[in-house]
Amino acid sequence: MHPFAYQRADDVAQALRAAGRQAGQPPTSAPTQYLAGGTTMLDLMKLGGVRPQSLVDINGLQDQHGAIIADGRGLRLGALVRMAEAADHPAILRDYPVIAQALQLAASQQIRNMASLGGNVLQRTRCEYFRDPAWIACNKRDPGSGCAALGGVNRKHAVLGVSDHCIAAYPGDFAQALVALDATVETTGPAGARVLTVEQLHRLPGDTPNIETVLAPGELITGFSVPAAPWTRRSLYLKVRDRESYEFGLATAAVALDLDGATVRQARIALGGVAAKPWRAREAEAILAGQPLDETIAARAAAAAFAGARTHGENAFKPDLGRRTLVRALLAAGRMEV
Ligand code: FAD
Ligand code: SF4
Repeated sequence: MHPFAYQRADDVAQALRAAGRQAGQPPTSAPTQYLAGGTTMLDLMKLGGVRPQSLVDINGLQDQHGAIIADGRGLRLGALVRMAEAADHPAILRDYPVIAQALQLAASQQIRNMASLGGNVLQRTRCEYFRDPAWIACNKRDPGSGCAALGGVNRKHAVLGVSDHCIAAYPGDFAQALVALDATVETTGPAGARVLTVEQLHRLPGDTPNIETVLAPGELITGFSVPAAPWTRRSLYLKVRDRESYEFGLATAAVALDLDGATVRQARIALGGVAAKPWRAREAEAILAGQPLDETIAARAAAAAFAGARTHGENAFKPDLGRRTLVRALLAAGRMEV
């Protein structure tokens, strides 16, 4: 592994000081990087594709930013909450099942025990060409070098939000649940504190796939807030993958419904495994609003969600799989007892 300096921060001010001002580069290639559970960062450093000069361990911030608070206003999740803790939390299981399920279906129990929620939303793509620096052509790792996946092994790659420069899929699950529930992310950085919607956090690849989020270098995620809403209890996460455990999604759907009898008052939908970023399917939501929920309307909504899909050979099956996943998720959410 490339040599690097290691330091621990015990509070946000120390973390920001240690990260310093690193203007002018995307946060993912800044010389100083934060370390939470390390389950993404250390993997990539060992593979050699990511080579920070120094790591700032933020686990000392657990006391300030490691709590789960559920009350009448909604849910607050500190960035240092571990995936396993949130997945097993009674209020999340009862009132925000889509969040609990997205976390339970991710990675393995050992990884969920280590991994933080802040690190989870910032995990990097699983594109093999990105992860293995032996491949030269990867615009995400080395801007301007090309994209080996366009004509290569791309069965797991994205079909929504892709560009001619990158077709990598966003691999995580938790962010889709947050996006479907209109969650916000709180950050603090050299320019002060701010609040964004989680939907705004990730960028589409466009012609700069190396810039994955709107975060500034050194900007630290401190937590997430999910507003209380009539659709949070009738919510679920459906993940279709090659094997039933310890596997990333080929097509996933985070769905939350507010029903009046059998009629949809409002639907909230985010798709994963098929898109370059956590993908809010607003066209599908608009089709469902005010309609009785049945297979026909669910299929129309799913067709709208994938109307802009672009495939690249091996991943030609994904729009169909994605549509079926969404239909199944919507109908299952409609049948939930809440
Ligand atoms: P780290 O590795 O410590 O950090 C990840 C990135 O986030 C780094 O760039 C780091 O600098 C940055 N970072 C961390 N915290 C902050 C913060 N608070 N503010 C700003 N930047 C920060 N995930 C899924 O969702 N679904 C899966 O099915 C799944 N399967 C997996 C299978 C395997 C074999 C592995 C290794 C991982 C899998 N994962 C999956 C990914 C796993 O969930 C992530 O690696 C984990 O959530 C990252 O959290 P971490 O705390 O370990 O992050
Ligand atoms: Fe790199 Fe993106 Fe192409 Fe994969 S899909 S090789 S991450 S540019």
